[in-house]
Amino acid sequence: MANMDAMLSQRVRSVDASGIRRVFDLAASLEAPINLSIGQPDFDAMPEVLQRAHEAIDAGRSGYTQTQGIPELRESIRERHGISGSEDLDVFVTAGVSGGLLLSYMTLLDPGDEILMPDPFFCIYRDLALMINAQPAYYDIYPDFSLSAEKIEAKITPKTKAIIVNSPGNPTGYAVAQDELDAVIELARRRNLFLIYDEIYDSFVYDAPHAACLGSYENTILLNGFSKWAGVPGWRVGYVIAPKELIPHMLKLQQYTLVCANSVSQWALVKASSVDFTPYLEEYRKKRDFLVDNLKEHYSFVTPGGAFYLFAEAPGGSGQAFVERAIAENLLVVPGHVFSQRDTHFRISFSAPMEALERGVEILQRLSR
Ligand code: PMP
Repeated sequence: MANMDAMLSQRVRSVDASGIRRVFDLAASLEAPINLSIGQPDFDAMPEVLQRAHEAIDAGRSGYTQTQGIPELRESIRERHGISGSEDLDVFVTAGVSGGLLLSYMTLLDPGDEILMPDPFFCIYRDLALMINAQPAYYDIYPDFSLSAEKIEAKITPKTKAIIVNSPGNPTGYAVAQDELDAVIELARRRNLFLIYDEIYDSFVYDAPHAACLGSYENTILLNGFSKWAGVPGWRVGYVIAPKELIPHMLKLQQYTLVCANSVSQWALVKASSVDFTPYLEEYRKKRDFLVDNLKEHYSFVTPGGAFYLFAEAPGGSGQAFVERAIAENLLVVPGHVFSQRDTHFRISFSAPMEALERGVEILQRLSR
C-alpha cells in the first residue's frame, strides 16, 4: 500500500493512531479480560429515555431535523443551563461532544494556528488539531493536574487562538476548582482568546460542585452532551452553548458535514434532564471510593474528584510496560501515552461492575509490588 499512502492527504498522514491500536490489539488477544479501560458509562440508557426512543421510532421521527436540533430539546438544554432568557447565549445540538469539538476547531482555527490544551489530554483534542492543519500546544498539568493560569499564559504565542479546559478531566478525573477556572477565564479575556470548556462529565462530581463558566466571558464555547450521564454514547447527541453571534458560523459547517444529530435520539432525550441522576452518582461514588481506598497504599495518584477515571503513576516509570504486565494478568487498563506526550502514568476506568473492580484491584495490588 506504499503507493496509496503517498497519494493521501497530509491531514490523514499527520494522525498517528498506532498507540491506541497497540492497546486494542493486545486487548483482542484476551478471552474474558477484566476490563477497566472503558470510556463510557456501564449503565444502559435511562428507562424513561428508552421508552421515548421507542415512541419516536413508532411516530416516524426518521427525517432530518433542523440543523440546530429540534426546538423541544434545545429548550430543555437551555433550562438545564439556566439560559432560557439569555440575550447573548444560545444552544445548538450536534453529534456528540466530538461533533462540538470538530465544529469549534473548524470555526476558530486556520492552518498554523495554535490551540492550547492540557497535557494529559483527551486524545481527540490533539488529533483534531492535526487533522485541520492547526497546531496542538500543551500546558502541562502534571503532577497534581490542577489548572494554573500562569502555566497556561507562559505557553501563549502570537499564533494562539484558543484554550481548552476539560473538567472533570479525562484521563485524570481531576475536577477543577471554581477559582482555578475563574483565573483562566480572566486570562482568556485579557489575552483575547477563545475558551473552549468541555464539561461532558459535569454530572459525575463527587466532592464539590462542578466549576461553571457560563456568563463570565463572551468568547466562551461550552461543550456538553448526553453520552455519559444519560448512558447513550452511541446515540450521538451533544450540544454547544456559545454566543448567539458565533452559532450561525458553526451551523454553516454543521450543515455541510454532520447535517444534524440523530433524530430519534434527539426526541428521546427531550425529557432526560428531569430524570434524577442521584442514584447513578451514588453508585459511581462508591466505585471511586472503593478504588481509592484499595489502591492508595500501593500507587501514587491524585484522588479523582469527578468523571470515572483514576490516573496513577506507573510503577517502574513506563505506562506501556506496566500495561503489558497488567494484560499478561488479564487486566485491561490504558497507558498514559495515549493521552500525553509522556508515558509515566496509566488510566484506570471505574466505569465497570463492582465485581470487575474487585478482581481488578486484587491484580493491581499484586502488580504494584
Ligand atoms: N470529551 C471528553 C473529555 C471525553 O472523554 C469524551 C468521550 N470519551 C468526549 C469528549 C466525546 O464525547 P461524545 O461521545 O459526546 O462525542
